[in-house]
Amino acid sequence: MTKKQKKALTQIIIAAVLFVPLFLISEGIVPVSLPKPVLFLLFLVPYLTVGRDVLRKAFLGIRNKQVFDENFLMTIATIGAIVLGEYGEGVAVMLLYQVGELFQSYAVGKSRRSITELMDIRPDYANIEVDGQLEQVDPDEIEVGSIIVVKPGEKVPLDGVVEEGNSSMNTSALTGESRPVDVGPGMQILSGSINMTGVLKIRTTCEFDESTASKILDLVENAASRKSRSENFIAKFARVYTPIVVYAALALAVLPPIFCMLTGIGMANYSGYLALWGDWILRACTFLVISCPCAVVISIPLSFFAGLGGASNQGILIKGSNYLETLANVRIMAFDKTGTITKGNFAVTDTHRNTIPKEELLELAALAECHSSHPISLSLKAAYGKAIDQSRIEDVQEISGQGITAKVDGKAVAVGNTKLMRTLGLNVEPCHKVGTIIHVAVDGSYAGHVVISDELKETSRAAMEGLRKVGIEKTVMLTGDAESVARKVAEEVGVTDYHAELLPADKVSCVEELMKETSDKRRLAFVGDGINDAPVLSRADVGIAMGALGSDAAIEAADVVLMDDDPLKIVKGVKIARKCIRIVKENIVFALGIKILCLLLAAFGLANMWLAIIADVGVMILAVLNAIRCMHVKNL
Ligand code: ADP
Ligand code: MG
Repeated sequence: MTKKQKKALTQIIIAAVLFVPLFLISEGIVPVSLPKPVLFLLFLVPYLTVGRDVLRKAFLGIRNKQVFDENFLMTIATIGAIVLGEYGEGVAVMLLYQVGELFQSYAVGKSRRSITELMDIRPDYANIEVDGQLEQVDPDEIEVGSIIVVKPGEKVPLDGVVEEGNSSMNTSALTGESRPVDVGPGMQILSGSINMTGVLKIRTTCEFDESTASKILDLVENAASRKSRSENFIAKFARVYTPIVVYAALALAVLPPIFCMLTGIGMANYSGYLALWGDWILRACTFLVISCPCAVVISIPLSFFAGLGGASNQGILIKGSNYLETLANVRIMAFDKTGTITKGNFAVTDTHRNTIPKEELLELAALAECHSSHPISLSLKAAYGKAIDQSRIEDVQEISGQGITAKVDGKAVAVGNTKLMRTLGLNVEPCHKVGTIIHVAVDGSYAGHVVISDELKETSRAAMEGLRKVGIEKTVMLTGDAESVARKVAEEVGVTDYHAELLPADKVSCVEELMKETSDKRRLAFVGDGINDAPVLSRADVGIAMGALGSDAAIEAADVVLMDDDPLKIVKGVKIARKCIRIVKENIVFALGIKILCLLLAAFGLANMWLAIIADVGVMILAVLNAIRCMHVKNL
């Protein structure tokens, strides 16, 4: 509990202790007779103890010309009740209202805290070695290229590369995956992961603000500010609704008594004009208490917040509630192939030489690729397996979706697919092997090709199956790879459709074509790895980047970021979004339903203030508890 909450709780307890005996006396249950003015003064004590803040806020609201809020509603209603002699009701309403407020602030605070605990990746310090001694410093002060030491049990504060030491890392706070990852010298390491076994010396590769942990926290913290339509709707709704309610209450207080006085109808029920007016004003006050919109206003943002938090705990970062809403309505999904459906770590299965030795072919290819982060490039470099001397390479040009041209040892080398060779005016030798064929040309003549092949991710098939089950009608694979490879992968993984040999721009037009079939309730998502598909990621209704851990491009271009490589997370993301939206709808229907019912009862004089406030606080508590369910998404 925070200090403020403790103070509120104390006030509530004191007020309740004072209130109960007074109430029993005023109801005649305890036979003590007190004159009315004394009773009034005594009731004021618990009323002001617990209601001071509400009265003050209402007053401030009036002064700032923002009259209509719940403090205002509560103030008029309770003062109205007290003026009419219903001391007990007036004080009880204020008391219960404050109980509700306290509960709500506690629940919101608690879920906020548990989410930040779930996302416990904010590093507090970094160790550096000074004269053989470890010193703790603010990670903000560490410069790029410094050596930091991470002991077992500590969080890695900055991204870097292991210089010395072996260990296994727990990356669950980043990916939601609890299996430890082994690391050793030369391997990349991300901030936010926890070192479990050995001491590691890490050479940092970026500053604190640029580190993965900082970026993720930024993203999660900013997510709540991108409002969904339901949230915007509620904000607008409250702005219109509260004044309407106040005017309706005013009408309820004034029109029926005037009508009675003018026509004489119903006058027989009252002992005089005072009783008539008293009755209707009290009904109007009850009406105000009931109409307080707190439950809906609180529970909707809380549901989204809890949903976003629960998702990030699973390694699914959603950049705003608006995307959560869109994700729930996705019916068409397009996928990139390499790195998304397939692993993207190609194995070199063969090299076919034409004019130069095989080793040289692979060497030229690897050297030309030295700067690219494309999965194909990484695989060629891995197959070459030797350190690359940067000085041998010049003029590197990456042609997205086609390949690379560069000068290696002064020779013009081109490495890429058939399209690239054709643009260079070269004839390509067909290959009888199935796989992705990477052709190499040297100084304008064809030199041979490398056959590489990729495998499906273990869960790709299951993911497509899962997507079908949750009602995704169309799954389309878009790839820049050759038709034969695309067909094989599409058949194996079970997508409904595929398009091959696409340049990044063609992928955009494919997605635009698909988007003609979309509507508000039929959205399109694109899933990619962020390598050369950023335009499509941002063009789709929702762009989902997978395996984005450590890939800045993907984190920036996508709306939903899956921290690990597992395609099943796509299914999970959709399920989380659906659950969250369902809960929001439940709360709207439930809270408004009860409100409308109570309002009708009050208008007909069938509900008193007790029922009103209990209904209000009760609905709020239930709605908040329901909203918190959005956080529990582990087993979806
Ligand atoms: P995908 O759509 O499967 O992700 P890309 O659009 O990234 O594939 O690439 C399409 C094709 O372009 C690849 O299959 C490959 O033949 C060629 N290509 C792209 N980048 C490179 C590269 N860096 N080196 C060699 N070939 C490349
Ligand atoms: Mg790709």
